[in-house]
Amino acid sequence: MNAYEQIRLRIAEDVERLLEDRLIRREDVQNVIHHAETTGKKLINPSAGRSLACYRPKAVTYWVEYCRVDEDYQVHTAYSHRMVMKSGGNTNEWVKSGSDSDWLCNQCQSTLEVQTVRLQYMQSIFPINLPACSHCGFILVEEELATGKVAEAEQALEDK
Ligand SMILES: [Zn+2]
Repeated sequence: MNAYEQIRLRIAEDVERLLEDRLIRREDVQNVIHHAETTGKKLINPSAGRSLACYRPKAVTYWVEYCRVDEDYQVHTAYSHRMVMKSGGNTNEWVKSGSDSDWLCNQCQSTLEVQTVRLQYMQSIFPINLPACSHCGFILVEEELATGKVAEAEQALEDK
């Protein structure tokens, strides 16, 4: 048994359907949580008691928002994207827009700030403002963006 298989999930019916629609398997979710919990690389929202983490095993980045319930992990949502998010150069050179995010970088214990980063997909690069940790460069791709604009852009580029 792989270590990630020991991650016990609780998934409500509506979330289960959402994951099915998004072609995200249980093991993808387990992998994300296992990776986040073993490395500490994740975002936390202390007031909501939630964690948000991502993992890119191959060509797809999976994101899972979850919280710990006893020995299990309750999955609130999960989504994916294929684009690679790259921070433009040194984090010291990031342009801050001044707005903060609700999420905190777990490793750096600092609030994410909106920064201009570059998205890369196939041969194309797009500048975009995203919340990111200015210490370690962790970039947050929110669900709305991943399932909206990013999904549209991926589709448009593939159709070319
Ligand atoms: Zn950080």
